[in-house]
Amino acid sequence: MKAAIYTGDEQIELRDVDPMKAEPAYVIVNTKSSGICGSDLHAYFGHWSRSEKRAHGHEVCGTVVEIGEGVDGFKVGDKVTMECFSHDGTCALCDQGHYNHCLGKGGFSGEGHGGFAEYTAMHASSLFKLPDDFTFEQGALVEPLAVCHRAVMQAGTTSRDRAVVLGGGTIGLLTLAAAKAAGVRETLITVKYPQQTEVAKAYGADRIVDVNEEDVTEVVKEWTDDLGADCVIETVGGASNFDAAVACARKRGTVVLVAGYFEPLEVDLRKIVWSEVVVTGSNCYGYSGREKDFDAAIEMIASGRVDPTKIVTHRYGLDEIVEAFRVSADKKSGSVKVHIVQ
Ligand SMILES: [Zn+2]
Ligand SMILES: [Zn+2]
Repeated sequence: MKAAIYTGDEQIELRDVDPMKAEPAYVIVNTKSSGICGSDLHAYFGHWSRSEKRAHGHEVCGTVVEIGEGVDGFKVGDKVTMECFSHDGTCALCDQGHYNHCLGKGGFSGEGHGGFAEYTAMHASSLFKLPDDFTFEQGALVEPLAVCHRAVMQAGTTSRDRAVVLGGGTIGLLTLAAAKAAGVRETLITVKYPQQTEVAKAYGADRIVDVNEEDVTEVVKEWTDDLGADCVIETVGGASNFDAAVACARKRGTVVLVAGYFEPLEVDLRKIVWSEVVVTGSNCYGYSGREKDFDAAIEMIASGRVDPTKIVTHRYGLDEIVEAFRVSADKKSGSVKVHIVQ
């Protein structure tokens, strides 16, 4: 089968690899749609570790073609998607419901290939069956939407809150959509490129701040009559965005970090002490309250409350993966989310 493998910094190559057999606890899925994620770009640029032996790609949807030993509740032909890690279900953290912090956590697809290949290996613990009327594109957007659902839940937002989202990429835009679906009172999002403005408008942002033209801290001050935002969700990364997130939060407000960090940062911590701003992270997805973030994301899409397909700007075949990564890595291309379609 064909699989796209990283071969160096900013290099990815389509290769012929051995077909996979379903290992115990795994299913093999015929890959239909997979998104290029910010974390895939971190690996592409060499910021994060990457495999140069097996295909990455964790925002995946397809149909089950083979079922390994010990996998219950799934059958050949099921339309499925997966969480980007496996968990053991038996450790102390799983026992407490915090399975995204599982002590026996494994990477997506185990030793097999991920979504940038003709077939994807998925671990039973990470599998979700999708409604039959889901499109493969919708299915491949469950993963990033689940990330954003968790970020909104980590912020503890209520219908009385004004929420600020820093960043107009996939995670920023879907966080905006998830915050709207959660019924927050008002939303503000920062954007850098025209295509991000268009999607932010489509998701009903109350205020859109173009960072090329305006200073978000100043705008938020004005927008909230000097009070600051109740919660700020930071999706970009870097020291200046951390500082901006804390500066935008009101006293005793919440900052949720859901950006990809790859080096230690020098940041201003003073306001966290003085104003008792609570800063927390948001790690993938797991349970938010009594519900799994993945189930919440599937429900938001099924009910029509969030249409995540609005962020998909480009679609390429697997044989066009080099161009797909180039376009995804360069936001001047007009891209938000790039999908590989098979
Ligand atoms: Zn992702
Ligand atoms: Zn565990």
